[in-house]
Amino acid sequence: MYIIVGLTIFFKLKELYDYFFNPSPKEYDLSNDKLSTYPPDWSARKKLIIRRDGKRCGECNANGGLHLHHVIPLSAGGGNELENLRLLCESCHLKTHNVSEFSRFRQREASTSSKKILSIKKALSKGSRISFEYKKPKDSKYHLRTIKPKGVVEIEHKKDSDVTLCIYGFCYKRKADRTFAIQRMKNLSILD
Ligand SMILES: [Zn+2]
Ligand SMILES: [Zn+2]
Repeated sequence: MYIIVGLTIFFKLKELYDYFFNPSPKEYDLSNDKLSTYPPDWSARKKLIIRRDGKRCGECNANGGLHLHHVIPLSAGGGNELENLRLLCESCHLKTHNVSEFSRFRQREASTSSKKILSIKKALSKGSRISFEYKKPKDSKYHLRTIKPKGVVEIEHKKDSDVTLCIYGFCYKRKADRTFAIQRMKNLSILD
């Protein structure tokens, strides 16, 4: 009896630990292959490509600072399928892109690998609500928001041609669909 209770608690704790500290490569989701944006499982895809090609640049064999690169760019109709992805070191990667495109890539790579994206993806797949504190550029402080997420979109800025990764969903406060920049969210949690 005590053993069963003990084991149950152990596995529950392990589940929690894995959830927060050890999101596994099975976050890889085949249905993101045809997405026309950077997928939420981008870092899981990178792990799979490292397993396939080794931890080295496909051009010069360097083994540090590797980026995952679309052979046919998303903007030219390429997808996120593993066949269209390869590893490049930063300098080889720079040579294949123009500079503004490249800074956009850096921003996306930084945000897609974050824990927030993993939580959002989890909420999306379970149909859960999430809550978070949010600050718009002109706000002086954070406000609590609860939304039911419906998807992730990229919003282009007219000014600097950069892209912000956003989540859209039903906002319970506004009683309407709203879009929120993921980088302006903090203390995100999944509610149910
Ligand atoms: Zn290289
Ligand atoms: Zn690239």
